Amino acid sequence: MIERSLVLIKPDAVERNLIGKILTIYEDNNLKIINMRLTKVSRELAEAHYIEHKGRDYYENLISYITRSAVVAVVLEGEGAIALVRKLNGKTNPAEAEEGTVRRLYGLATNQNSVHASDSPENAQREIEIWFPEK
Ligand code: ADP
Ligand code: MG
Repeated sequence: MIERSLVLIKPDAVERNLIGKILTIYEDNNLKIINMRLTKVSRELAEAHYIEHKGRDYYENLISYITRSAVVAVVLEGEGAIALVRKLNGKTNPAEAEEGTVRRLYGLATNQNSVHASDSPENAQREIEIWFPEK
């Protein structure tokens, strides 16, 4: 099934000039960039995006990380895009991520793991609406 997934290239990766290298991994795996935006994230947007994590012990750390400098929000489209992007990104903890994955290559730690990707069709739709609202 052709799906869409919302990806974020997070502040630690943008700060280290890794946007191109990360996008290349997606494009080389038959994923099409159909929308993209570089933006500094407001607290409001960060909280909407990470609503499922409110109350977790890492929540404040997560919100300050994602709002500290610019991110790139990307909508990727392709066959099985949601599972494919999560596979290409690798496990949440870069030390546990498979070789060749974005997080293994570029992630610094669980709390600076370079990328986000939608985890379900429902969350993909919700996140795309948050990051790319109809004008
Ligand atoms: P994923 O991004 O792989 O879907 P989660 O949904 O579990 O992972 O968590 C969302 C984000 O919150 C992670 O990518 C990471 O940036 C952060 N995070 C998750 N767990 C922790 C933790 N134990 N300590 C610090 N940050 C965390
Ligand atoms: Mg998640």
